[in-house]
Amino acid sequence: MNYTLNLVGHNKKNLYFCPKPYTITLQPKMSAQNTNESVFDQMNAYGHQKIVFCSDPDTGLKAIIAIHDTTLGPALGGTRMWAYKSEADALNDVLRLSKSMTYKASIAGLNLGGGKAVIIGNSHKDKTEALLRKFGRFIKNLNGEFITAEEVGTNPKDMEYIRMETQHVLGVPETIGGSGDPSPITALGVFMGIKAAVKELYGNDSLTGKSVVVQGIGHVGENLVRLLRDENAMVYVSDLNDERTGQVAKKYGAQAVSNNTIFDLDADIYSPCALGATINAQTIDKLKFSIIAGSANNQLEDEFIQGRILLEKGILFAPDYVINAGGVINCYSELMGFSKKRTLQLTENIYEATRNVIKLSKAENISTIEAANRIAEKRILDIKKVKSTY
Ligand code: NAD
Repeated sequence: MNYTLNLVGHNKKNLYFCPKPYTITLQPKMSAQNTNESVFDQMNAYGHQKIVFCSDPDTGLKAIIAIHDTTLGPALGGTRMWAYKSEADALNDVLRLSKSMTYKASIAGLNLGGGKAVIIGNSHKDKTEALLRKFGRFIKNLNGEFITAEEVGTNPKDMEYIRMETQHVLGVPETIGGSGDPSPITALGVFMGIKAAVKELYGNDSLTGKSVVVQGIGHVGENLVRLLRDENAMVYVSDLNDERTGQVAKKYGAQAVSNNTIFDLDADIYSPCALGATINAQTIDKLKFSIIAGSANNQLEDEFIQGRILLEKGILFAPDYVINAGGVINCYSELMGFSKKRTLQLTENIYEATRNVIKLSKAENISTIEAANRIAEKRILDIKKVKSTY
């Protein structure tokens, strides 16, 4: 990557990159940026409004906040803490993740924009109260344009530290007025997405007798296994942690399988609930499932290429950002002061949202991810016009 960020001697510790008035652009894919592009080129390619580079040598804080689009409302997105190999990797991750937050909020019908933050560092070794509170100060300075929550490498306790410096943080523990762990709600949304896909292929949305492989049985995966087993689906579970796999299998009457054999299983549904990009150039030919629907973000290595191949193979892909929106719905409810009942209603709407995506995909013979992108983009453009008059 060709850019250099030199904050030495700068009397402000954060740099803002704000390109001229932005537009939402229809892009073939959300990923795979050319790493020779400048920061501004990358921002323009993804359609970002603003990037804030946060540096504080005293606490060791190095963070990037990416605000993709605030047409629908303040940019909401979690803060990920990760030991990135390079600043370029961190920037690429935050750009990609924040853009998908815009789409996720839009298709879920929420009045939220998309953003994300990354803190560069090892979450087990480098995290301190001072670092998180300093980061909270940077969020505070954005005056509500960006609201954060927990993500990979951060937890509710970290959100409490950020809350000490700014109100613009969600997902704090229930004991201090937050909405707590979003995972059960995320799992419910994924479950609704699976049902919507099953309805399309089998004529009714019953999961009784359907076989589902859940890859990754962490916070979301375990809750999903419970919902699936409650409806008498046959569930295979797989996780890197064998002990946990055994425990969850026993608890819910699921079958434990080794992670490297899951693509050999003769199952109806594959539910990736661990990491992204499991549908890639190496795995795509092995896939025999009828449906792919899980919680992991960015499941397609390249959404345009693998999206098309899945369409041609007749595998129904329920786009990740459509069906894993339960977490952001949970945060939105916390922001708006909604009741639990309302949160559940909004999450159950994921069934209809998924049905609409499938309908458009069929009508236009486009991949489901392209269909989802079109629906999300249309809502943003429509609301932009609504807001164009005083
Ligand atoms: P988690 O960390 O609690 O669980 C992930 C699990 O996946 C862990 O048990 C881990 O051991 C396992 N795992 C990691 N790599 C694996 C691999 N290669 N094969 C099999 N298992 C593997 O995370 P979570 O909160 O349950 O989230 C799961 C996924 O859903 C993540 O991709 C996350 O970004 C996404 N997501 C979560 C939420 C939420 O509310 N928690 C919301 C939206 C999206």
